[in-house]
Parts: sequence; C-alpha cells; structure tokens
Amino acid sequence: MRRGTIPGSSGRVRPMRLLGDRGLAAPCEEVTAFDDDLARLVEDMFATMYEAGGVGLAANQIGVPLRVFVYDCPDDEDRRHLGHVVNPRLVATDGPVIRGPEGCLSVPGIEAGTPRFDEAVVEGVRLDGSPVTVRGTGFFARCLQHECDHLDGGLYLDHLTGLRRRRALRAARRAGLSPAGAVASTAGTEAAAAAEAPAMGGRAG
Ligand SMILES: [Zn+2]
Repeated sequence: MRRGTIPGSSGRVRPMRLLGDRGLAAPCEEVTAFDDDLARLVEDMFATMYEAGGVGLAANQIGVPLRVFVYDCPDDEDRRHLGHVVNPRLVATDGPVIRGPEGCLSVPGIEAGTPRFDEAVVEGVRLDGSPVTVRGTGFFARCLQHECDHLDGGLYLDHLTGLRRRRALRAARRAGLSPAGAVASTAGTEAAAAAEAPAMGGRAG
C-alpha cells in the first residue's frame, strides 16, 4: 500500500528489462487479483520509473507479465498527468497522426521520430477495481499509446519503417541491445545510468 503521498516512495526499484528480453515481446495477462501484491507492484513501478527518469512504465518492463502501466507525464500544454491503469484498453484514437521524438526505458539512449495519434482514450480500472477513463492529447496521448503497445508485446520501434527503423536498430545494436536476442536484462543501476542518455529529452516510457 502507499504509505506516502508521493507515488513510489515506498516502492522498490526493480531491474529494467531491455530490448531483446522475451517478456517485452509477449502480450501481458489480465489482472484478476486486486490485492496487496498488485498495490506493491504499482508502487515498485513508480519507483522504477522515477529512478530511470521516465514518464511511463509498463509492468513487463520490470518482468511482470500483467496488464498494468503507470505514468507521470506532461501533455503539450504542460499539464501533468499522474496515475496508473490496470487492465487498460486503448478504446479510441483520433486527431492527426504526428511524428514526434519517442524513446523507451527498455531501449535506453535511443530515440526516433515515431508516428502517433494526437488523441487517445484508455479505459481500465484502478487498484481497487473501480473503473477509470484516461484521456490524453499530444505527448501524453503518445505515452498512453506507447504503454498500451508494451502490454500487447510491442515496442515503439514497431511503428518505424525504412531508414528510421534501420537507424534505430543499428543504434540499438551498437548499444549492445539485440532485437532478436535472448535475455538482455540488466541491473537497475546500469539501466538507470544508460537512461541518462537523452531519450525524449529524458522523457521515455
Ligand atoms: Zn517503453
């Protein structure tokens, strides 16, 4: 349970799973148990996201194959959005598709112009099982689409084509990450150090 007012303050920073980890490529399972373990997971996810300097984190990025993500993310008007969604579904996307810089804590140090809808709506539930609808525009809409991709076993790199995709994959290989590799997880401290390289201007999910 949360003991402080700041999300993640009672959480434990967990090792970040990196590109090549099989858990990042598999769809996550629906949460069915709304218990203390789930509350602890959300706390740990906030702690891990803040430690890595990210704006969003999906549970499979710390090796837990459940449909949960957390966020603390600004939109294009600099409004802050903070929360978590359990069993999220991306129910609507709208507006123009905008190519903007995007990075990922599981692909540290790399970013690429990635096309995303300018508006997104996610439905799901909170820790207590109560329904929630999260609407995002601009950069926050990008974050919502990015985290939903993770829970379906996807990465933002999947949205890249042509030269952008080749460049990003080449940079990942140079950084020691392997898209086709086996387990490439690393200690949290190493991941945090690597994440200091600019990704979305320190804004990665
Ligand atoms: Zn990510």
